[in-house]
Amino acid sequence: MPAAEKPPPEKMMFQLNLRRRGISDQAVLRAMEAVPRDFFVQAQDRGDAFRDTALGIACGQTISQPFVVAYMTEQLQLKPDHRVLEIGTGSGYQAAILSKLCRQVLTIERFRTLADSARARLGQLRCDNVEVLLGDGFDIPAGAGQFDRIIVTAAMVEIPDGLSGRLEPGGILIAPVGPHNGTQVLIRVARTDAGLERKELVDVRFVPALPGIAREL
Ligand code: SAH
Repeated sequence: MPAAEKPPPEKMMFQLNLRRRGISDQAVLRAMEAVPRDFFVQAQDRGDAFRDTALGIACGQTISQPFVVAYMTEQLQLKPDHRVLEIGTGSGYQAAILSKLCRQVLTIERFRTLADSARARLGQLRCDNVEVLLGDGFDIPAGAGQFDRIIVTAAMVEIPDGLSGRLEPGGILIAPVGPHNGTQVLIRVARTDAGLERKELVDVRFVPALPGIAREL
């Protein structure tokens, strides 16, 4: 490849780190390469956008660590015809990654400021299969229907039955479960013919999932 097209070193390290840490799904790696994380972070953090670390965004929330985004995405085992629900839009970064790997994404955020700016970013990046909804992930509109995959990107003390009930047969849900002020465990719930199968994956740290639309902007 001509020298001018060579990706900058921090982007090469970004990909290398994901592989080193065990991300092997080529489609996930390609999606991580295609979505510019620097577009989703605050201006003062642009220089750190390709480091493997969570960063602060508006409303006291965070954009997750790239490894965790890639890991959760890989665990979802997405197929191109899948319809996916994300709870916790935040910056919109995870939704952009999902958009490259499935048919349709509905992402829900309780802060209007975050929902609006994520919608604008996803529009600019032409992620036209993503819908951003201002709402409460604990109270999903009945009309939203069922999903092949559900990804929760805020810590829940327990996974509500109403949420796993939104899984299509064969569906998979991934959520950080545990106390709000501490470490949570990433849980994978699969809806099989025998019922819901629950598996613990790895320890993670997420901001809490809180009920209701946020009263502040
Ligand atoms: N996936 C995001 C990061 C999520 S941070 C990204 O890629 O940037 C967690 C987000 O979940 C926060 O923005 C927080 O406001 C939101 N959140 C917390 N509780 C929620 C709820 N009940 N419904 C919808 N969003 C919620």
